[in-house]
Amino acid sequence: METVRRIWAAILDVIFPPLCVSCRKYIDGDKWNFICDRCLEKIITERYPRIINGKNVSAVADYRDPVIRQLIHCLKYRNMESISKLLGEMLAERLKHIVIEAESTIIVPIPLHKRKERQRGYNQAELIAIVAGKSLCLPVASESILRIRPNNPQSEIPDLKEKAANVKGIFGPGPDIKAVLGKNVVIMDDILTSGATMAEVVKILKKGGAKKCIRAVIAMAGRH
Ligand SMILES: [Zn+2]
Repeated sequence: METVRRIWAAILDVIFPPLCVSCRKYIDGDKWNFICDRCLEKIITERYPRIINGKNVSAVADYRDPVIRQLIHCLKYRNMESISKLLGEMLAERLKHIVIEAESTIIVPIPLHKRKERQRGYNQAELIAIVAGKSLCLPVASESILRIRPNNPQSEIPDLKEKAANVKGIFGPGPDIKAVLGKNVVIMDDILTSGATMAEVVKILKKGGAKKCIRAVIAMAGRH
């Protein structure tokens, strides 16, 4: 079976050669088969949390970074689920010095509305959270909050006040809300724009008895 699998993989390699999602060059023997080492090294990672509306936010990189932007785009819109492995590992690396009380900390990915998740087939924030959770040895409580109302993407709304109004009341407690009681919660998402979505999630988590909320995203968009 192993031989058949290898031959099949070699045939697929010829028909669909693995090309880097960023520079489109052929990738030969890289660990990640969707990005080349050169592009991976080009990502300028953030070293310190940024303060958004008075709150610390940890991010892997800035959304203006062309490589990180392309990786997120392919994960969200080109069904390249495996990109979550790389992004999840990068976020875990970013957080490993921040998350110290591992036994009292859990991860909550920002949920998509069920209809949107069905359309896409997965929630990219949850995939990233699962990988980061494994790496940081933290449990992931995906069902602790729900997106009860669909909303327009925050990136399409220019005004800050309108961004806040767009996400007001869109989340509610989920069947697993008890998981956050008395815990520090690392809230994870792919992109943070104004921080309004994150703030809504924090409200629900605090009502559910969460202690400290740590905000963590792959990329920071907008001028912060
Ligand atoms: Zn490349």
